[in-house]
Amino acid sequence: MKSTGIVRNIDPLGRVVLPMELRKILDLKVQDPVEIFTHGSDVVIRKYRPSCVFCNRDGSMLQFKGLYVCSHCIAELASSEEDFTENEIL
Ligand SMILES: [Zn+2]
Repeated sequence: MKSTGIVRNIDPLGRVVLPMELRKILDLKVQDPVEIFTHGSDVVIRKYRPSCVFCNRDGSMLQFKGLYVCSHCIAELASSEEDFTENEIL
C-alpha cells in the first residue's frame, strides 16, 4: 500500500472527501460506486468492480437477473446443461 500523504477529517456524519486529484487518477466520477474493505485496522476504498457470483473473478461479466457471471462460468454452465437434461431431477 502506498501513502498519499493526505490527511482528512471525518465529518459529523462519518463522511470523508476523496481528494479531486485521487479521483482523477483513479477515474472516479460522481455517483460511481466504490467498495469498502477492511484489512486489519485499515480501511480500503476501491473502485467497484463487479465479480462473478460463482467464482468471484472480476473482468468481463454478463449480468443476468441482477447477478454477474463471468465467461468461464457461463461456459461451464453451458456444458453442464447437457448433463443436467440427461439426469432426472430427484
Ligand atoms: Zn465465474
